[in-house]
Formats: sequence, structure tokens, C-alpha cells
Amino acid sequence: MKKVLCLLLVSTILICAISLTSCDDEKTTTSTTTTTTTAKPHEHSYVAEVTEPTYTEQGYTSYTCECGDSYISDYVDALVPSEDLEFTLNEDGESYSVIGVGECTDAEIVIPDTYNDLPVTSIGDYAFSNKDFITSVTIPDSVLVIDNGAFAGCDLIESINIGNSVTTIGENAFRFCISLTNIVVPNSVTKIGGAAFYYCTALTSIAIPKSVETIEMATFSNCTALENVTIPKGVKTIGDWAFQVCTSLKTIDIPNTVTSIGETAFSACTSLTTVTIPNTITSCGEDVFKKCYAITTIYFEGSVDEWRNNGILLPLHVRTADVYCDDGVIPR
Ligand SMILES: [Zn+2]
Repeated sequence: MKKVLCLLLVSTILICAISLTSCDDEKTTTSTTTTTTTAKPHEHSYVAEVTEPTYTEQGYTSYTCECGDSYISDYVDALVPSEDLEFTLNEDGESYSVIGVGECTDAEIVIPDTYNDLPVTSIGDYAFSNKDFITSVTIPDSVLVIDNGAFAGCDLIESINIGNSVTTIGENAFRFCISLTNIVVPNSVTKIGGAAFYYCTALTSIAIPKSVETIEMATFSNCTALENVTIPKGVKTIGDWAFQVCTSLKTIDIPNTVTSIGETAFSACTSLTTVTIPNTITSCGEDVFKKCYAITTIYFEGSVDEWRNNGILLPLHVRTADVYCDDGVIPR
């Protein structure tokens, strides 16, 4: 693909050169147009693209220069599933859940995608909770459900790789994973349970999948390193305490699909300076921005009259902020 692009680029430059010269050429000569074809030797500048290993294929890194030169290196072995984990046959008789570490002592847990030739489709309640020797977890594409508290209190887990079939993350699933810095929640996830990421104090950013409609109670509460979070358009409800004490969060943009915000949802987010609020809210709990002393700017997607006179919005009012409405500004 890169090579094709380069060729296109070169031919475009040539065409430009030809057309530029041809303008002047009526009165001069045409002999200079073909000399630009030889690329000058240059020091390659490679861009790396990592392909993670799978259960069947090696991982590798491909390096590509903009000139089209490329090579592949840094091979990583295919994933080897952890042994000696504990399983139970599900009620359907056709799939298994992993329900505990069993005799396994791997720091890097790789959950197998099959057990006894049947798919492993869920991670049971509190299956790996409080296991302080685990540093990373890989969850296969066969898994649909991560149950309540599955990894709660795993102090040393830094990285969790979730397969692309998980639809449900249970309550408290990653609660108190205080070393967790790296997690991608796949777009297959439609439900994230309450307090799922409560007190994940090393987490700096998280993308909430587009299909999630409810941010449950305390889901991201006390994620004190969280600087970036995007609430996707499609979310309707932000639950009580959802983001409270996220003390690194600087801005929050509430999309206009949200109709309900719970009490103290953003309270004590002490770095929060800028907030965008839609005019779609029909229910709002108390003290949404309590102790958010740094808020100086509110963008309200509605009129001055709506902001002032819609009683439902009163818990969103902050004394320290200028409020920019569609038809004017209300100074602090
Ligand atoms: Zn090059």
C-alpha cells in the first residue's frame, strides 16, 4: 500500500513538473522534464507498526519508510495459554468458565480459548481477584462475559488485553487494579458494571465503547490519574458518583444523548476547568460538580433563558464559571 502511495506521489510530482514547465515551455526548451525521476539516496526513517501475537500466529513489528522500503523484525512467539487454571462447565453443557487460578503461577496469564475442546466463554465471579502475582492478562475472543469482581484487587496487573467478543464487564471487575495503565475496552462491550474501574489510580485514559448506554454507579470513581475520557454519543445515563474524585480530569464533554446525570457524578474533580453540557438533560442529581473549584468555563448547548430558568439544571450551576450559551454569555 505504501509503495502504491509513493508511486502515486512520484507520478503526481512528475505531472506537476511537466505541467509547470509546459507553461513556460512555449518560448523555451522542453529538455528538463525527465531528469527528476531518480530518487536521491536518503537515510531511511522507519515507522514501526506492531502486530500483536495471537493464539496461533507469531507477533512482529513491521518497519516502513516513506520511500517504500520496509522490513519485518522483532518476532514474538504465539501466545501460549496458561496451564492449571480452574474451570467449570457452564449450564449449557457446551462451554466453560474459568473460575480461578488453580495451580497456575504465571505472572502473565493467558486464558485459553478452549478447555476440553469446548470454548471458554466467561470469566467467573472473582475468579482472579486479589491475586498479587499477576502482571498481565490476555482474554481470548471466545470470552463473552467478564463477571463481577473478576480481577478486583489485583495490585500488580498493568495490562489487560480483552478479546473482541466480550459484551459484558461485571460490577467491580477491575476495582482496585492500582497498577493498571493499559486497557482497551473493545467495541463489542455494551455493558460495564458499577464500580468496574473504581480506584484504578494508574489509569490515564480510557475509551468507553460506543454501544455503552449507561455509565453505572461509581464506574470510574477515584481514577485519580485519568486525564482523558470520552463519553461517546449514545450514552443516556451517567450514574451516581460515576467520575467523582477523578482529580486529573481537565475537561469533560457530555454528549447530547445524555438525559440523566446522577448525584455527585463529577464531584471533587479538582482539575476540571471546562465542561460541555447539552440541553437534553431531564433528570439531574444533587452536587454534580461539588468541590470542582477549577471550573471556569461551561459551554451550554442551549439558550441563556434555558440555563437560568430550567430548574432541573440547577445542580449543574457553578459559581466560578462563565457560561457560554447559544445566544449569549452569562458571566461568573
Ligand atoms: Zn527511505
